[in-house]
Amino acid sequence: MTIDDVWNLNSFPIKQIYQQLRGVFQKVTWRKLVCNNLGCPKWIFILTLVANERIHTRDRLEKWGITNDTECPLCENAVESIDHLFFSCRFSQAIWRRLLKWQRINRQPMQWSDELNWAVTNASGNSIAAQIFRIVLAGTVYFVWQERNQRIFQAKHRASNQTNHSRCSLSRE
Ligand SMILES: [Zn+2]
Repeated sequence: MTIDDVWNLNSFPIKQIYQQLRGVFQKVTWRKLVCNNLGCPKWIFILTLVANERIHTRDRLEKWGITNDTECPLCENAVESIDHLFFSCRFSQAIWRRLLKWQRINRQPMQWSDELNWAVTNASGNSIAAQIFRIVLAGTVYFVWQERNQRIFQAKHRASNQTNHSRCSLSRE
């Protein structure tokens, strides 16, 4: 009897066990959009939360019994959800439409699940255009979320075409 017979290595299903365990940590399709993104760390952080559906939009807060107010603070005309904020809302849609045009991407803004699929298919590569798209997407998601928070918590309003002078700070404050 050889060692191979003892352990029956040829039929031992290591590969199947590995795949089964690995399934728990399945790679997400949008990983390259955040891991390979040259945008500000805080932009990428918010993009990751949104892609993971971990951002606390009002539709979710209502489900948890935290609020009764589900109105989108940006357009005041719809229930606030991830799909609405990015980019079905007329406020964020106006911004994203301009930025798509600026990148010479000839299409209309879509709701988040479709935007994410589009980005995974068209902007996961290493071309300059794909890299710029990832940065612009992260920045747009960040600034829309920031504007939403300012309206809710500080009652400050900016128009969708207003310039933002905030800079990306890499320092650890
Ligand atoms: Zn809205």
